[in-house]
Formats: sequence, C-alpha cells, structure tokens
Amino acid sequence: MIELYLDIDGVILDFESSFVDFVRDFYLPDLPTNYILKSWEMGEEFKSLDIEEVWSRFVNSDRFSSMPLIAEKESFNNLSSAFPLHLVTNIPNAQYSSRVANLTLHGLEYSGLHLAGHFNFGDENYPTKSQKIKELTKPGSKIIFLDDHPKNCLDIKSNFPESQVYLMDRPHNKELQDQSWTRVMNWLEFYDLMKQRIFN
Ligand SMILES: [Mg+2]
Repeated sequence: MIELYLDIDGVILDFESSFVDFVRDFYLPDLPTNYILKSWEMGEEFKSLDIEEVWSRFVNSDRFSSMPLIAEKESFNNLSSAFPLHLVTNIPNAQYSSRVANLTLHGLEYSGLHLAGHFNFGDENYPTKSQKIKELTKPGSKIIFLDDHPKNCLDIKSNFPESQVYLMDRPHNKELQDQSWTRVMNWLEFYDLMKQRIFN
C-alpha cells in the first residue's frame, strides 16, 4: 500500500506570495510586486521589521486562511481518492482551524491534517515530520513524501530509507545540490510522476 505525505506551504498553498503581499500592504509599501523571498528565515529577509509581531499578525489574519492554491484541485483529489493522503504542515497548533478553512476553501479532500516539522515554535513536544509519520504509517506501506524544505526531506530519508522523497523546487532551495531526493519543478510534474508510478 502506498501512503502519500505532503507538505502544504510552498507545495499546496502559496505561502510566499501571501506573506510578501501582507508585508507590502501593512509594512513596506515599496516592496516590488514581483519580490521573491530569498531566505527561509523571515527575520533574515526583512531585517528592518519586528518579524515576530509581523508573523503573529499575519497568522491571525484572514490572509492566512485564504492563501491561493499552487497545487491543482482535480489532480490532488485524484490522488487522495486513490491512496491515503496525509497533509503534514509546519505551523503553530493555534493555526490548525485556519489551515483547515484554507484547504476547504479550495475543495481539497485528504485523509488527515497533521502539524509537524523541523521548526518547533518553542514547543519541545512539537514533532518532527518523521516522528509524526511513524505514528501514522501502517506496517509494510510505501511512503511517498513531498516537501520544499530540505531539512524535512533529509529527516524523512534518514528515518525511512525506503521512502520516495521529492523536493518541490522553490526560489530558496534552487542553489541546493540535490541529495537523496528527486526534485520536482511544480505540482503537475509531481502529479505526472505519481500517475506513472502509482496508477501503472
Ligand atoms: Mg513547505
């Protein structure tokens, strides 16, 4: 049995453009409309801002629950109707219901939504993605994992050597040499690979 574990920000939902638009609208009006984040760390990216205040305001705003889709509804739901499809997203616990609302807004169907990742928001009990997947996976299943953060990809590959790990190409990981994962350029490329590997 195949199990799919997919990241959300930068893979399913367009976190980057939503956050940049928010920063422009409320803090830095001169930020170009085609501005591309160059760093994973928002504090590094916007050194002039009190990033904790900006982040807190952003995640509690309507913007956080209405990010645009960068995946595609029909192909996404094709996958989730064929196999268990778990979304594993690295956001604070308090934002769980906003995330559900955002996924519902786009009509996405999935087996479960779980919070885990390399960043723990100061909570020592916040799980890594491999810890969460260990709880969820059924013995003998084949794990397919997709994420845009190399730390999460390495976490899965080192804990599940038999898994298939895909890195979603994003501006902040372009310079990175590919290691034990397969890089995909966008959602439809990932879906085409799944069609070949899963549905055949
Ligand atoms: Mg991500």
